[in-house]
Amino acid sequence: MDSRRLAYLRALEIDVWERRDLPRSTPEPLPAETSAAVVTPVRSIEPVHAAAAATSTGVVGTGLGHAAGLGWEALEQAVRSCQRCPLHQTRTQGVFGVGNRKATWLVIGEAPGADEDRQGEPFVGRAGQLLNSMLKAMGLAREEVFIANILKSRPPNNRDPRPEEVRECIPYLYRQIELIDPRLILCVGRIAAQTLLDTDTPIGKLRGKLHHLAPMQPSGKPRPMIVTYHPAYLLRSPAEKRKAWGDLVLAMQTYERLGGANA
Ligand code: SF4
Repeated sequence: MDSRRLAYLRALEIDVWERRDLPRSTPEPLPAETSAAVVTPVRSIEPVHAAAAATSTGVVGTGLGHAAGLGWEALEQAVRSCQRCPLHQTRTQGVFGVGNRKATWLVIGEAPGADEDRQGEPFVGRAGQLLNSMLKAMGLAREEVFIANILKSRPPNNRDPRPEEVRECIPYLYRQIELIDPRLILCVGRIAAQTLLDTDTPIGKLRGKLHHLAPMQPSGKPRPMIVTYHPAYLLRSPAEKRKAWGDLVLAMQTYERLGGANA
């Protein structure tokens, strides 16, 4: 195991077992935010569960609507100028998403918060730093993956997205999924998971298994998806980091099973 990955695993306070007959890795120093995290160690990894049944967002079969057929530039422009729901009145800017547009990993969260609204990029601030650490523990740089939200504009006071807002906005995300064609989606947080899987099942019962995100249009294909906790929740509830690490291990195992190494 390389020293950087070891460092991030230890930053998450994940016990790392190494063979005694091999040279021991020395962790690199970490950013203050990461190394200050207080978490519970994990000593076992949850097994891979059988795939859950495909589910619906409530928009399955309806087509991509206003996002259909848009290329990257047109899609980004559509988001930045979008006035399809009242959130455009209170946002600073639309937060399109960031990262590798040919990524094999797609991270999907809920909606921009105050920092994201200000900077125009998803997952910045403390939660963003923890997401970066989670990705690094998986051997992934932030720039290697694509990161997006189900809502592109910030709900006032960080309230939950409303169904009518999601209905208007989610075609943008589905078009992003179509363009990226990721091998695996990592869905972070209760709101994103419940929205994409069209369920009110608690996140504790959605994590730890493989889901398939149903397509919006008949020609689309189901997308493998693993659910885990939102980094902002993990900052508030560090004891849950051991479960989140189990989810990330499941995601890595699933990714490899679906087609190869994550390089
Ligand atoms: S949340 Fe989505 S649908 Fe609503 S204004 Fe922003 S980009 Fe448009």
